[in-house]
Amino acid sequence: MLEVKDLRVWFPARTSFWQSLKGVSRYVKAVDGVSFTIKRGEVLALVGESGSGKTTTGKAILRLIEPTSGEVWFEGVNVLSLNKKELKEFRRKAQIIFQDPFESLDPRMTIYDIVAEPLKVNKVYGSADEEYDAVAKALEDVRLVPPEDFMTRFPHELSGGQRQRVAIARALILRPKFIVADEPVSMLDASIRTQILELMEDLRKEYGLTYLFITHDLAQARYTSDRIAVMYLGRIMEIGPTEEVVSNPLHPYTKVLISHVPIPDPKLAKSRKKIDVPGETPSPIDLPPGCRFYPRCPFAREVCKEEPQLIEVEPGRWVSCHLVRS
Ligand code: SF4
Repeated sequence: MLEVKDLRVWFPARTSFWQSLKGVSRYVKAVDGVSFTIKRGEVLALVGESGSGKTTTGKAILRLIEPTSGEVWFEGVNVLSLNKKELKEFRRKAQIIFQDPFESLDPRMTIYDIVAEPLKVNKVYGSADEEYDAVAKALEDVRLVPPEDFMTRFPHELSGGQRQRVAIARALILRPKFIVADEPVSMLDASIRTQILELMEDLRKEYGLTYLFITHDLAQARYTSDRIAVMYLGRIMEIGPTEEVVSNPLHPYTKVLISHVPIPDPKLAKSRKKIDVPGETPSPIDLPPGCRFYPRCPFAREVCKEEPQLIEVEPGRWVSCHLVRS
């Protein structure tokens, strides 16, 4: 369905006067050689701390940000080679749901106009009746019923959960096949999150959708995904089936993340040992040589000064660490 090969997104960084005199170029390596595949109908969760490059990866796949290099194959076509017209066609099949529904919805537009906008831009229907029916169906799909009650309202008249439902309706109205869901519930109250995640799962089954689910929350990733890819400083550290990664993490960074996931049962929580790592995440401009996790890794060795490759250590499980081998 989707294959990402060696994707890089580098942004020029500021250089000092002396550096520019010497012709030194510096880059923020937000995404630096990321590769993964997503099967049709699958949910791949891209997990990591803020600044790990998750959102940039999602936007680069849809070319909302232009990648520096790499390949993104979608249904046999390299998305990065598409011209403007072809890209418009691709965007009908691949959509994004943003983190903050309040920011992503134009406050001056009614809910009807917001949801109908992709239909108008793509000239999908010739008649107003067809367009109305499509908007009504999209609102029903996201359980905003009866749809007539919502069409004439403005975003500020809705709750956070309702606004995110509108954002999902707008993303789905062109009947896409692939969705990048960028932290779609992180701005919502805890009580609403599960409802939205369940809605997304229902829609996935109903319309055969494929999701790249971006989140910093491993518990959410576990709840929603078939496989997890863990990112750190612009690179994939580990990929594997969700339950295997969560119950038996192989990469030291994944172990650290999982050791900090809250456990509701106080007895179990007491018996679990948290792994703390020193220091802050290094700047993506001045990346450490060798393994990116080297300056903070509790298991680091001399060999870690060499950069490890992402290799398949057991069927379906890929890890980038010198200490983890098949
Ligand atoms: Fe830690 Fe070394 Fe593995 Fe990197 S390669 S995660 S520094 S043990």
